[in-house]
Amino acid sequence: MRRQVSSQEISDAVRRKLHERGVSMHDIAEIVYEMQSPYNPDLRMEDCLDSVLMVLRKREMQHALLVGMELDTLAEKGLLSEPLQSLVQADEPLFGCDETLALGSVLGYGSIAVTTFGHLDKEKTGIIRRLDTKAGSHVHTFLDDLIASVAASASSRIAHRFRDKEEEDNGNGPNHAASAG
Ligand code: MG
Repeated sequence: MRRQVSSQEISDAVRRKLHERGVSMHDIAEIVYEMQSPYNPDLRMEDCLDSVLMVLRKREMQHALLVGMELDTLAEKGLLSEPLQSLVQADEPLFGCDETLALGSVLGYGSIAVTTFGHLDKEKTGIIRRLDTKAGSHVHTFLDDLIASVAASASSRIAHRFRDKEEEDNGNGPNHAASAG
């Protein structure tokens, strides 16, 4: 019989695996803060953390994270078959599937998410740099891009909410239809 996996089980697995792979919610929130604080001087770390948690509740993001972290872990243990093992283990620059999976996950959060993802992929801000640095036997070929994806989505979410708030404060009322996620 086909087992229906509950959302809770998936959420728990994502949180647990991120922790096992050395990524905290705070690490991701710091990137979001760096991306969005220039546009929003009142932004608090707490808002960034909140936004990260909301993005991590999205099923498609959770699935992408599970796939990526699994492939990284299998490559770390040498359990993939060749030539995929060598491609993932070496973080081969022309491999591209890591970026494609991560880019696909930001699309639900609109153009700000896409452009922020491109920026983070290039600049390797915060923990992304640490993950991208090929230290020891760790493989983070997928995870660095996926963290950029979560941070970019959470940044876009904040940008849209900030505008909603501005409009509300100006007496124009909330426009929930315009808000991302
Ligand atoms: Mg990568």
